[in-house]
Amino acid sequence: MADIYHQLADRALADGLPDAGEAAWILDGEDVELLSLLQAAFVPRRKHFGRGVGIQVLNNIQNGLCPEDCGYCAQSKVSEAEIRQYPLRSDEEILRGAEAAARGGAVRYCMAMSGRGPTLARTRRVAELVREIKSRYGIQVCLSAGIMQDEHTKILADAGLDRLNHNLNTSENNYGQICSTHSYADRVQTLEAAKRSGLEICSGIIVGMGEQSSDIFELACKLRDLEAPSIPINFLIPIEGNPLQSDRSLSPERCLRVLCLMRLVNPRAEIRAAGGREGNLRGLQSLALYPANSLFVGGYLTTRGDPMQDTIAMIEDAGFEVAEIEGAAAGNRPEHDPSRFRLTGEESILRPDVQPRDA
Ligand code: SF4
Repeated sequence: MADIYHQLADRALADGLPDAGEAAWILDGEDVELLSLLQAAFVPRRKHFGRGVGIQVLNNIQNGLCPEDCGYCAQSKVSEAEIRQYPLRSDEEILRGAEAAARGGAVRYCMAMSGRGPTLARTRRVAELVREIKSRYGIQVCLSAGIMQDEHTKILADAGLDRLNHNLNTSENNYGQICSTHSYADRVQTLEAAKRSGLEICSGIIVGMGEQSSDIFELACKLRDLEAPSIPINFLIPIEGNPLQSDRSLSPERCLRVLCLMRLVNPRAEIRAAGGREGNLRGLQSLALYPANSLFVGGYLTTRGDPMQDTIAMIEDAGFEVAEIEGAAAGNRPEHDPSRFRLTGEESILRPDVQPRDA
């Protein structure tokens, strides 16, 4: 049995991948030893990324008001969730965000816009902002803006955009269960258009939406075929008011197995434990750092996440190190904070809180 873990690790080192039977075993096998599986996934992770963890912060530049019906998304027209809605932020606000990111030492500024996809006029406006950000601050820029064609992605590439995010979210087979207003094929063609224009792509999944294990493997292989260098793994956050609620498939162990599979299928990709990591991995979050080499911090598009300080403490406590910070909160990186080890008042947490025997 020990051999299978070594075989999976060795194959990933040689840029191979598990077959369908092995993938099913990784996700569902009753005799899987979780720590051995994590170690197998850690081998290629360590080769390509050492013990570094990239931290990413998302900046919503347009929120809500979306005509699409993605069942997992609080910004969709069918969601009854109460979220803050605002149209595209002003140029000044967006540039201020980019400046804060650059001053804080971020390597990349990530902007997300709600909506099916931008018009050409809006694409040109965002492209101008990308040009401005790059010339003023010299940092990389990533954009998530929905469905696009070649003419959109070309405008953005010409402006110097570095990376386009567009998640596939679930397999082709399961796509109709999560959305009816656009298709899996629409999403794939957006990624292909981005690649043709020379943009780096970032594309990931959401698990816990009624998919089968075979759907997860299929999606992992599709992202490998697309050579996505950046893959966020989201764990469904069952937001009250959204049509899609928990399918009850996600335990912390299931989440870790998904991350391991994604690493073993995509050994060189930046694998990110993204939305919903806190609530779904719970006490096992630090184990996610064995397959994943990147985290979102501070929150997602419509929900809160762990703050920067807690996330950095978790990374360092687990023996990993922060490699780079992407996003507007980069300047908030705390130094070692001894107050973490103190109770309120002067009492040390190291003093045992027990009653003396003769009390
Ligand atoms: S995921 Fe994007 S396209 Fe779908 S509802 Fe949300 S904002 Fe709209």
